Amino acid sequence: MKKAIIIGSGAGGAMAAKMLSRDFDVIVLEQGKEFKPFSLPLEKLGAFRKTGLYFDERLIQLLLPNMRIDRNPEMVMVYGRGVGGTTTLATGNAVRADEGLKKIGINLDKEFEELYQELPITTDHQSRWSPITKRAFDVMQEMGLDPQPMPKLLRPKQCKMCGHCSIGCPTRAKWDTRELLDNIKVLTGCKVTRIEIDDNKARKVHARKGIQHLTFEADVIIVAAGGYGTPDILRNSGIECQKRLFVDPVLCVAAPMENVRQDRQLLMPFVSRREKYILSPYMDWLSFFFNKEWRKPMDGMASLMIKLADVEQGDVHHNKMQKTLTETDRQYLKNGVDDCREILIRMGAKEQEIFLGTLNAGHPGGMLPLTSAEAQTLHSPLLPDNLYVADATILPQALGLPPMLTIMALAKRIATNIIDHQNKLN
Ligand SMILES: Cc1cc2nc3c(=O)[nH]c(=O)nc-3n(C[C@H](O)[C@H](O)[C@H](O)COP(=O)(O)OP(=O)(O)OC[C@H]3O[C@@H](n4cnc5c(N)ncnc54)[C@H](O)[C@@H]3O)c2cc1C
Repeated sequence: MKKAIIIGSGAGGAMAAKMLSRDFDVIVLEQGKEFKPFSLPLEKLGAFRKTGLYFDERLIQLLLPNMRIDRNPEMVMVYGRGVGGTTTLATGNAVRADEGLKKIGINLDKEFEELYQELPITTDHQSRWSPITKRAFDVMQEMGLDPQPMPKLLRPKQCKMCGHCSIGCPTRAKWDTRELLDNIKVLTGCKVTRIEIDDNKARKVHARKGIQHLTFEADVIIVAAGGYGTPDILRNSGIECQKRLFVDPVLCVAAPMENVRQDRQLLMPFVSRREKYILSPYMDWLSFFFNKEWRKPMDGMASLMIKLADVEQGDVHHNKMQKTLTETDRQYLKNGVDDCREILIRMGAKEQEIFLGTLNAGHPGGMLPLTSAEAQTLHSPLLPDNLYVADATILPQALGLPPMLTIMALAKRIATNIIDHQNKLN
């Protein structure tokens, strides 16, 4: 049997591994460890926070070891490091977001259809919305913002509505890509450093596991280390990336509202799509723990998220982003803040009490974007024949929408192309 190496076990990597495992001997090399959800009772942490001891966002790693945080003066980047990649921290939104791909001639209808069949995607959570969620939905409807229930990767009956979706679902009601990895060999704690390329062929994968230096050989290699990890591996292997990093910045706008308990609800239960951004109710844990403005009781605030499709410009090296918002980004964010203010006021908030969260982002990608010339192959000519990229790095533009379903659809197509190619060779 031919061998395939997949680097990374997030949205793209796990889906590619699952697909290839039917025809290849697959091994997944994953830098992180098994995922562990946030372990402390949040009430205790809330009490600790009241002492005024605020700490750096990066220290959240002590409490949630699979979450990684990078920050620059303007924003905080959040990503997953562990089995399941960033999907373990996702709020489970399953949105088809392939407008940019369609524009360059990539039609993924078949793959999305398969995903809807294979995964537990549902909007069947509306009956469990709490009064504050319903209120926000009604207000946004009154304002003509056309809110729609969010499709979720969720088994609603198992969901305790604890609001922990993005810090680790304790019941596994929320689906993540760990579920694709049953019966697949995953080597954890294994950081891939580079790929040795010779004569247009990827020959070896070089990696570090603890103090060991390991090398692996395979017929096919797929890099899926995420929008934050893949560019380093490619550059170390002699393949240049483009400084087109997008991140989908998120800003929350919140206001005190007594006993609304938004901390105990499904995150992002519905969505309103606006030009270049979306709006959705979201309890912003990052701001709650680390932003002084958020020193309010966690059960007593209502918060709305703006998620922006940013201008594709920026870079990442060794997990440090070089990225600032453009004037265009700022203008759209301002429009979003104005929308949120009006929604919150209509919901009963006092205008002078409205406050903003920490600007953060969790959808890095775009540094080896697909072009129309690659619409059939989904394979950049910069890559050797047997080396593929199957993660957010190949998305041609910022989505401003949850990307994981679209990344999985791309990974499916790439794996199918690889299998077809191998069958032709045999
Ligand atoms: C808080 C939060 C909530 C989110 N919610 C949603 C949501 O509801 N819906 C949605 O669609 N999207 C959501 N996202 C975004 C989504 O999770 C990511 O866009 C998606 O997982 C990216 O997939 P990927 O395959 O590109 O990378 P990832 O899922 O990040 O996977 C990359 C993997 O590669 C591994 N890796 C990195 N470097 C190396 C290396 N050198 N060697 C070996 N392994 C390596 C990493 O440890 C990781 O496991 C959310 C993100 C965050 C931060």
